Amino acid sequence: MAWRCSGSSNAALIDNMWRHGLITDPAVKAAFERVDRAHYAPVSPYDDSPQPIGHAATISAPHMHASALQHVLPFLLPSARRPAPRVLDVGSGSGYLTHVLAELVGERGLVVGLEHIRELRDLGEENMRKSEGGRTLLEGGRVKFRVGDGRLGLVEEARRGEEDGGTRWDVIHVGASAKEVHTQLLDQLKSPGCIFIPVDDDEVGYSQHIWRIEKDAAGKVTKHCLFGVRYVPLTDAPRGS
Ligand code: SAH
Repeated sequence: MAWRCSGSSNAALIDNMWRHGLITDPAVKAAFERVDRAHYAPVSPYDDSPQPIGHAATISAPHMHASALQHVLPFLLPSARRPAPRVLDVGSGSGYLTHVLAELVGERGLVVGLEHIRELRDLGEENMRKSEGGRTLLEGGRVKFRVGDGRLGLVEEARRGEEDGGTRWDVIHVGASAKEVHTQLLDQLKSPGCIFIPVDDDEVGYSQHIWRIEKDAAGKVTKHCLFGVRYVPLTDAPRGS
């Protein structure tokens, strides 16, 4: 996909993804347009490809982020029954997806980027601070970055004035490949709620598939295998971080 959808500017990259059907939802397109990928990818930010960001992590390709967003979109956008969506972004890395997610959850929403490497937790926040839009989201409390093991999920208090919804999540996005769908993540998902997660097909972890896991209002869980991917693994934190 990279050869078709790369662009010479952020607007050109997004426009190419739109014209090639990789972004199909206008709200998602508008959210991408508000976030300059150059603030997050140290090299070739407008290529539709993953790039290294240090600490053996990569910023995913833009078309992968678009796919992730569109697969969870009904659970992400604010509505009368979900006025303050809560989103956990496990393995936030560069912070790019965390920022785009925050552009979609509305004024009362909350997006938490969770990293097990402190330097990457800090990198995500620093990258967001490069733009006025990013600074506004951080200072207004719509986005937070935390350090922790994403396999355990996260208990995060609600924003002030949003206390009725509890600490569970409407959406959990996982940006690294898991050995299994961890029960903590399923338990921390609201009913209804949705998880987007790459899972290893076997012990070796050489092949992986994205799973979309939906919990309905009654708590019934349905799992759909979407497509094959190559993500970095969800692991123990390196020593010293
Ligand atoms: N969404 C990010 C992806 C970064 S790569 C982006 O596009 O920039 C995957 C990230 O998962 C890495 O930053 C890595 O540090 C993080 N990670 C790996 N195992 C983890 C764990 N157990 N808990 C939290 N983060 C983890």
